[in-house]
Amino acid sequence: MTKEVNNQASISCPFCSPDINDCIFLESENFKVIYNIAPVLPGHSLVIPVNHFTSFVELDEEQLLEFMQITQEGIRILCNAFNTDAFDLSLQEKPEAGQTIEHLHLHIVPRLKNDLPRPGDWYPLVHKNDDNIIENEKRRRLSDKEMEIIVDKLRAVAAKPEMRV
Ligand SMILES: [Zn+2]
Repeated sequence: MTKEVNNQASISCPFCSPDINDCIFLESENFKVIYNIAPVLPGHSLVIPVNHFTSFVELDEEQLLEFMQITQEGIRILCNAFNTDAFDLSLQEKPEAGQTIEHLHLHIVPRLKNDLPRPGDWYPLVHKNDDNIIENEKRRRLSDKEMEIIVDKLRAVAAKPEMRV
C-alpha cells in the first residue's frame, strides 16, 4: 500500500505489534489473517491490513479486491478446519459503530449448529470482544501453546491448493 501510515497512532496499536506474528495463518502482500487471541467462538479470526489503515472506505479498488480475496481464502480455510460452511462477517468503522481498535479489521466467525442459544447472539460477543483483544483480561485469552496448535493447523489447511481463490 502506498498511502502514508500514521505512525503516532500505530505505536500503541495491537495490530501493528510484532506480538501478533504468531497468530498469522494467511498473508497476502498487504493483508493478513490472524487468529483472535480471545476468540468468541472457535475459529474467530481477523483480516487486517499490514499497514495501519483505519478506514474501509478509503481503500482503493486494488486494495479492496485484495482484501476481499484474502477474506474469502480465510473463510475457506476456517470453514475447512472447523468443518462447517457457515460463518459471520463483521466490520465496525468509527466508535459510533462500535470500533474500539482503530486499525481496520474484519471479523470472521465460523459457525456451527447450536453453537449459541440464538444464532444472532454472536454479534454482542464480537463487539464486547474488541475491548479484550490485548489490554483487557476479562475474556479468557488463549495460551501461547493453544495459539501455536491452532495456528499450525490453520497454516497446514492454508497450504492446500484448493484453498486458493
Ligand atoms: Zn495498527
